[in-house]
Amino acid sequence: MAVPRNRLSNARKNSKRSHMAKKPKNVSNCPNCSKLKLPHRMCPFCGHYANRAIINEAGAAE
Ligand SMILES: [Zn+2]
Repeated sequence: MAVPRNRLSNARKNSKRSHMAKKPKNVSNCPNCSKLKLPHRMCPFCGHYANRAIINEAGAAE
């Protein structure tokens, strides 16, 4: 197994981790019910995708 030759200082460790921050999720509003939804996914509130009902109000797939 490879072993690090020198100790990584806290400053070098933290500057390496400066690129690892999480970005906020890219959410948009549903065109049907205008609640927040993830892109390329069906709306979890009204079951619409691409202005069509994928799942009806009873929760069954059409
Ligand atoms: Zn919706």
